[in-house]
Amino acid sequence: MHTNWRVFPIALMAAALLAPCALAAADDDVHRERREQLVESLTRSGFFGLGRQAIEDETVLDAMRAVERHRFVQLAHVPRAYEDTPLPIGHGQTISQPYIVAFMTELLQVEEDDVVLEIGAGSGYQAAVLAEIVDHVYTIEIIEPLGRQCAERMEELDYGNVTVSVGDGYYGWEEHAPFDAIIVTAAASHIPPPLVEQLKPGGRMVIPVGPPFGGQNLMVVEKDEEGTVTQRSVMPVRFVPLTRGEANGDGDGA
Ligand code: SAH
Repeated sequence: MHTNWRVFPIALMAAALLAPCALAAADDDVHRERREQLVESLTRSGFFGLGRQAIEDETVLDAMRAVERHRFVQLAHVPRAYEDTPLPIGHGQTISQPYIVAFMTELLQVEEDDVVLEIGAGSGYQAAVLAEIVDHVYTIEIIEPLGRQCAERMEELDYGNVTVSVGDGYYGWEEHAPFDAIIVTAAASHIPPPLVEQLKPGGRMVIPVGPPFGGQNLMVVEKDEEGTVTQRSVMPVRFVPLTRGEANGDGDGA
């Protein structure tokens, strides 16, 4: 066969340039398929209707389909990104289990015009899921390097409707209050009064309450149009603790 030696290097170069793109595309397909399987599993309840409740809200399921969880975990955990499990994100913290993220989002009953406050930005995954649905998400993280990384990730992934701040979320974010909904993704010993204060009449808050590392309950706090606040416990959960004090940069490193 006659080889055109002038075309050959160009073809070789083109192949070398395109191969990584093809690999990346194949990789995206694999992630999409795994994500689809994960979302499908969220729509199933526990065996014989026992155990966990199925996620039924299509808006929530679509948001779970849209957010690329593998971009919110450390490189070493990418192969496990679509398992229904929490994963370490450094500094002793975790990205929440997808089922819990979907369940809490469903409980919030948010709509497209809503402005939401999240306490405990962590990886930014829960904020991204909410950002697929609502108008704006304000999220606060107490561990500075995590907050910084989260803000960078939001920019990289084009979540222009998420604003990240570093600080103690116990006090909420007065400047942008009141909020249609508030979600707390770390377990508090009690419901922080400033957060109840910053909830709009007709709004709701979802928050895990209980001692660090055990005996916690997921609570839904509702404020009606007259400003009357009611609360109910929804299910037992296990979250990292809501810590208090100045924003800090310590921890065991990413
Ligand atoms: N929503 C996160 C879950 C992160 S785990 C995600 O989707 O990845 C909870 C996070 O809450 C941790 O990153 C922890 O540092 C943070 N946190 C704990 N106490 C806090 C506080 N008082 N204010 C703000 N963030 C807090």
